Amino acid sequence: MIMELLDKPWTYSREDILKAFKVSTDKGLNAAEVKDRRKEFGPNRLRKAKAKSVWLILADQFESLLSLLLGVAALLSFIFGDWVEGLAILAVIIINASLGFFTELRAIRSMEALHRLSRVDAKVLREGQVEEVPAIDLVPGDIVILEGGDIVTADLRIIEASKLQADESALTGESVPVGKKIEPVEGDVPLADRRNMLFKGTAVTRGSGKGVVVATGLDTELGRISSLVEEAKEERTPLEKCLDQLGRKLIWVTLSVALLVIASGIFTGKSPLLMIETGIALAVATIPEGLPIVATMALARGMLRMARRNALVNRLSAVETLGSTNIICTDKTGTLTENRMTVIGMILDSGNIEIGRETGELKRNGDPVKVSDDKILEEALMIGLLCNNASFQKGNEDGDDKWIGDPLEVALLVAGHKGGIHQKDLIEKLPEVREEAFDSEVKMMATFHKKNNHYRVAVKGAPEAVLGVSSSIRTNEGERELNDGERQEWLDRNKKMAEEGLRVLALATKPAKTPDVTPYEHLTFIGLIGLLDPPRKDVQQAIVLCRDAGIRVVMVTGDQAATARNVALAVGLIDEDKTEVIEGKDLRNPDELSREDQDRLLHALIFARVSPKQKLDLVTLHQKSNSIVAMTGDGVNDAPALKKADIGVAMGQRGTQVAREAADMVLKDDAFSTIVVAVEQGRVIFNNIRKFVLYLLSCNLSEVMVVGLASLVNAPLPILPLQILFLNLVTDVFPALALGAGEGDPGIMKYPPRDPKESILTKSHWLAVGGYGMLITIAVLGALFLALTWLKMGKSQAVTISFLTLAFAQLWHVFNMRDRSSGLLRNEITRNPFVWGALVLCTGLLVAAVYLPGLSEVLKVFNPGLEGWILIIVMSMIPLVIGQVVKLTQLAKI
Ligand code: ADP
Ligand code: MG
Repeated sequence: MIMELLDKPWTYSREDILKAFKVSTDKGLNAAEVKDRRKEFGPNRLRKAKAKSVWLILADQFESLLSLLLGVAALLSFIFGDWVEGLAILAVIIINASLGFFTELRAIRSMEALHRLSRVDAKVLREGQVEEVPAIDLVPGDIVILEGGDIVTADLRIIEASKLQADESALTGESVPVGKKIEPVEGDVPLADRRNMLFKGTAVTRGSGKGVVVATGLDTELGRISSLVEEAKEERTPLEKCLDQLGRKLIWVTLSVALLVIASGIFTGKSPLLMIETGIALAVATIPEGLPIVATMALARGMLRMARRNALVNRLSAVETLGSTNIICTDKTGTLTENRMTVIGMILDSGNIEIGRETGELKRNGDPVKVSDDKILEEALMIGLLCNNASFQKGNEDGDDKWIGDPLEVALLVAGHKGGIHQKDLIEKLPEVREEAFDSEVKMMATFHKKNNHYRVAVKGAPEAVLGVSSSIRTNEGERELNDGERQEWLDRNKKMAEEGLRVLALATKPAKTPDVTPYEHLTFIGLIGLLDPPRKDVQQAIVLCRDAGIRVVMVTGDQAATARNVALAVGLIDEDKTEVIEGKDLRNPDELSREDQDRLLHALIFARVSPKQKLDLVTLHQKSNSIVAMTGDGVNDAPALKKADIGVAMGQRGTQVAREAADMVLKDDAFSTIVVAVEQGRVIFNNIRKFVLYLLSCNLSEVMVVGLASLVNAPLPILPLQILFLNLVTDVFPALALGAGEGDPGIMKYPPRDPKESILTKSHWLAVGGYGMLITIAVLGALFLALTWLKMGKSQAVTISFLTLAFAQLWHVFNMRDRSSGLLRNEITRNPFVWGALVLCTGLLVAAVYLPGLSEVLKVFNPGLEGWILIIVMSMIPLVIGQVVKLTQLAKI
């Protein structure tokens, strides 16, 4: 035993906790300690690893109606002394099970790969270094570093805290964030009162701190109360459920048809054993057992494909929703723009300053200025450096110099450097004692700095916010009262800068006797700073794509109207300068809005000065008018809007863990175009699933009809039981899988989004299933008839012709699955390498069925000869040719 977990860690002092967990605050644990503790306390997770074992997956394959039916057929064959047939059916059982096994294994492994992509990391101190490790690797005694927006991944006893607050609603139901401290708390108090603890499953809303892990996994509070412990059910997406239901319904249809075939066959004088085996083979071949698992695989593979293109999808079911998204609400900074900011100008009472982007020279009216000669300029640069959380890291031998932090704040540091003032020197003289973190509701941030025996407050924020709380202004002649007229003049200057597409910040300051005063009042206004943030290059194209695809793109930004409009114009979101911009304050709970107002808001393309709460209202408004809404977000406060949106999109680089957890999708590169890629992939995946369902059903229907019709009239069976099973293994599996794995047609973004209420197969799809099934049946029966009458073949030879015609007709039929709008020869099917692979493989297997001694005897397939082959090829092409003609004439709806 290395150590014991403490019963009430909150009652201990900070030092005692560190002692009890044998860890120091400057080093953390070392690798050996972590390993030992991991061994003793296990991984930090709530659920037992539920990696389904390979054996279980294998066993599952035999536990199906299918295997039962086949088992009965094999048994019957043995009873009637047909050993070859019996053994062949056993072989089918094994092959069937292995195919199912490999498909499911693939699907499961793909899902596991996806889960690994979306794991949560924790920042820990180990061996004196801060590193990010997967949350599952935390052990008791680890020192975890947290900041606003992080998810707490283990139970922690806080040892350092600065304005630390946490949202513990997940555990306590109390939605107001609670402040945290480090002092011990006496007694057996309820969870909500353990103010020096952070609990797994809650979130840090602001501030920063460090904590020692005191419990992991099932030992945490969450682990104790959580019913999650009883293995959470596997998530089934609506699509998978739908396919499940469809499959179950079809089982009954198939079984009744099979019985009917058996009965009518025996009635028309065929051998009962042959008919029972035919019936069973038919049932086996047509029960669409594989549908849900192939769908899962198509979804999972599609998600991996999306992940490769920087879109991480958190939930499988989001993929379907993506395909029907018709509104994308995107923020501006970092998504539409590059989030690489540069200060290019300042407006001060002492005049306008330009800062050369390349040269870094500060100029006024074209003449260089010396910062030390202009006190206001100097103060402005200083406030930019003080009220700042970014930092500069000198590179070591192998690394370059690095700027760390919010690009906006980095830009201010760089501007300071260009003016010859360095953050490090400044902070040494004016150490920071308090920070009022940036809050997107008030749109300002403040820091307090100690200067001799008093304090200085540095404020930066949105111009109208800062001007609203400034009562005076810094001028060359000193500080002066700021009147309303001047305030308006400054707002006009701000607007002019914003109209050029610049992001504008205002700076202000004041002295303070103590660091406890309210920062946002009686400030002295210093000036405005203009920052350039170029639009991302690929946005324009992505917006055009959206327009074609019937998806509306709406900008929702915290920035001001003029900047928003200019950027929207630059990326092609709007066409004319006068487009109306809605201010966030006009957004309200939709129930409180009049019809006209709702309409106006529904049609607006730009929303400026929007707070996270208003984002939620916007989502609600659009959802009320039956839209499927994608909404981006990055902050803690964005979580409700992300959850409410049909597709919540969080930023992988800029976003907080809380936002990422709440979202359905995370953009690794924060780029708008990645959302569009994801929507496109969502459509492709849904389409693929639809394609293979359509394909499988029409093939199965043809098999049922061929055998059913032949047994009704007194014709020979066009296809023998083992041949049916062979066909089922060959044609049903490979082409269907290939369809599920297709990359899709780029033309898919030329259509409006799919109606989310539309089911996987619409009425026109069912019609198509019937039509295709009929075509294949006619071709096969026609081939049988011609073989008997025209080629004068014997019954058993003619059956070879009908069997091969059916097989090849099904193979060619895969080309009928192209989208109606795509090219006849160049389309997503002919471009799909898997389809060609499947065709080559299946053709090979069919040729083997004819010419491979042994196999051909078991299947009772004869050599059809040249004439026979010509008949087979011609007749099997008929469904494809007619299918394509119907598609070209636009008679069919799909
Ligand atoms: P967005 O990212 O959509 O532009 P935010 O909500 O992040 O909107 O910011 C809203 C406004 O708050 C910005 O336009 C800017 O004026 C101000 N602001 C943004 N970041 C900071 C910051 N770190 N400090 C002070 N003010 C900021
Ligand atoms: Mg922002």
